[in-house]
Amino acid sequence: MIFSLIMQGNMSRKLHARRIEGIDKNIWVEFSQLAADYKAVNLGQGFPDFSPPHFIQEAFCKALNGGFSKHQYTRAFGHPNLVKILAKFFSRIVGREIDPMEDILVSVGAYQALFCTFQALIDEGDEVIIVEPFFDCYQPMVMMAGGTTCLLDLRLKEGCGPVLSSADWVLSPEELASKFSPRTKAIVINTPNNPLGKVYQQEELHMIADLCIKHDVICISDEVYEWLTYDGTKHVKIASLPGMWERTVTIGSAGKTFSATGWKVGWAMGPGHILKHLKTVHQNSVYHCATAAQEAVAVGFQREYDVFGTEGSYFQQLPKHLHEKRLRLADCLKSVGLKPVLPQGGYFMIADISNLNVDLADPSTKDEPYDYRFVKWLIKEKGLATIPVSAFFSPEHKDEFQKYIRFCFVKNGMFCSYF
Ligand code: PMP
Ligand code: GLN
Repeated sequence: MIFSLIMQGNMSRKLHARRIEGIDKNIWVEFSQLAADYKAVNLGQGFPDFSPPHFIQEAFCKALNGGFSKHQYTRAFGHPNLVKILAKFFSRIVGREIDPMEDILVSVGAYQALFCTFQALIDEGDEVIIVEPFFDCYQPMVMMAGGTTCLLDLRLKEGCGPVLSSADWVLSPEELASKFSPRTKAIVINTPNNPLGKVYQQEELHMIADLCIKHDVICISDEVYEWLTYDGTKHVKIASLPGMWERTVTIGSAGKTFSATGWKVGWAMGPGHILKHLKTVHQNSVYHCATAAQEAVAVGFQREYDVFGTEGSYFQQLPKHLHEKRLRLADCLKSVGLKPVLPQGGYFMIADISNLNVDLADPSTKDEPYDYRFVKWLIKEKGLATIPVSAFFSPEHKDEFQKYIRFCFVKNGMFCSYF
């Protein structure tokens, strides 16, 4: 008995690496399971409950039925058809010639592009500025790379009216400038932002760009919701601003772009002298992502290239479709006493729950933040899954942001069945 306890003690020290300490909890793992256990209507996790457009489904089937090569390995850093069309497509947007072989890395979803970026660029002692609220994996990924995070809040503007918009959350120029130091290696921005829906305006991006250039800092720009903007809001790529291409890694996702989150195709795009380091991580970890899925995404982008800017483009159709749902969700939330924040982009809406006086008597959750407890109550008692917004804040700031929950509105059937 004593012997076995000693052995267990020794083994637990040996079994895990220090870099994963404190990051074992994951909001998607926990709340997706809870939603499934209670068979709740899932307006929590961000995935569409409808199929991708026909043209891309057909392309996937064609790839699968098109002979042996689409079932086998392809080029490590991206299937040639995909990197070529991504380069052609985004050269037009960024306003410069993108080299398909040097400037792009195709990854297993945007997640892996982010992982390669942090692993390749961040060293022990480096600091990474992250704007809060942030997509939850940024901070653990920086930590796993050995870096530390320096957090900066988006703050609610003074004197906002009763109807809130994500545009009411802004960066303070002085605070932003104060975060840059000789230790700063990179800044992470996410536009449109998850969970707020904030779309950074040209002036805000210029302010960030000027600081990156002044302090020789890399910008990691997560733009997975780039095609989803509303009410005429324009998405601007920070990489397209003067002096920024050379120092920006832009992250994209076919999962978000073509409503196919399960295909797990993403990419990182940027100057070859930075991308080559991401490729080093990729070739020694994943090597490449599924060939047939990459081929289908290539066909999808070629089609979008051909119809770009017309009503036939999926990049116009999807936001048009979601715009209606966004307004409907906001009305539903208001009608039950919640205060929604209208997003300028993305497919999430946060809402202030402090008006609802719910008795959260469940003793099993009593040590958790209020929004976590509220969401658990909503799943268990009301059959509706959402996500607590404090999950998008660092452990240091979680306590200050417990009064919002996040709804996902990229839903047809699920949405209608609840509201
Ligand atoms: N970044 C953001 C902001 C996200 O919301 C997500 C979730 N889809 C990802 C990255 C990861 O994307 P993917 O599913 O392509 O890995
Ligand atoms: N990005 C998605 C969201 O914000 C989900 C990511 C995940 O399930 N890991 O809902």
